[in-house]
Amino acid sequence: MRKKIIAGNWKMYKTAAEAAELIAALKKDIGGVTAVDVVVCPPFVHLSSAVEQSRSCSIAVGAQNIYWEEFGAFTGEVSGPMLTSIGVKYVIVGHSERRQFFGETNETVNKRARAVLKAGLKPIVCVGEVLAERESGRTFDVIRDHVTGSLAGFTKEDMLKVIIAYEPVWAIGTGKTASAQQAQEVHKFIREVLLKMFDKATADATRLQYGGSVKPENIAELVAQPDIDGALVGGASLKADSFAAIVRNSMS
Ligand code: PEP
Repeated sequence: MRKKIIAGNWKMYKTAAEAAELIAALKKDIGGVTAVDVVVCPPFVHLSSAVEQSRSCSIAVGAQNIYWEEFGAFTGEVSGPMLTSIGVKYVIVGHSERRQFFGETNETVNKRARAVLKAGLKPIVCVGEVLAERESGRTFDVIRDHVTGSLAGFTKEDMLKVIIAYEPVWAIGTGKTASAQQAQEVHKFIREVLLKMFDKATADATRLQYGGSVKPENIAELVAQPDIDGALVGGASLKADSFAAIVRNSMS
């Protein structure tokens, strides 16, 4: 039985005061939830305080990126041991905005995901096609490429910690959600790819999130699909009431 996981990607939003206010409100509302894993991923500068603030509740904290070297002359970067040392538990890698604006490739996503594991953390590995790829019938090829490339060299043991987020790029921040059926079709395909790469037990056990304009109104139908185990939420994670409602509705 796969435990559901709802993660909020705050992207580059929230000042320190706003971040503290959001965590405080979430803590009050859903800080006792244990039926699903709840994760918030604030910008790097707020990670320490988010960890401190959420210490006495069930909300875990994740980062939005990581660099693959552990230390050194890499100005502006943040490493796995640094994240571990402050109590971060998850790291998003390969988000489409990183692929689109920061030159991320399957190869660099793979290096980052390995660094996450090496640091003892859990990677949320994002995959997803852009609109032109979907419209030209290449969705499955792109997803196969993203999954096999991002997880190249991973062992079955590594996969126990990996979460894959399927995020059709055309549905991110656009208000256009993939229908539950469209999302399920791709999630099922990801399990088939995992079956070929690893084995049935791994394919069955890996948690797969959907991401792309998830809201309190559509989460229940999405997680009712047999292969969807939760959501990676952008916009709707920036407000306590909508994120808390998504968490609650994912359990009903
Ligand atoms: C995301 O940024 O991962 C995302 C899915 O954004 P949104 O929910 O705003 O579409």
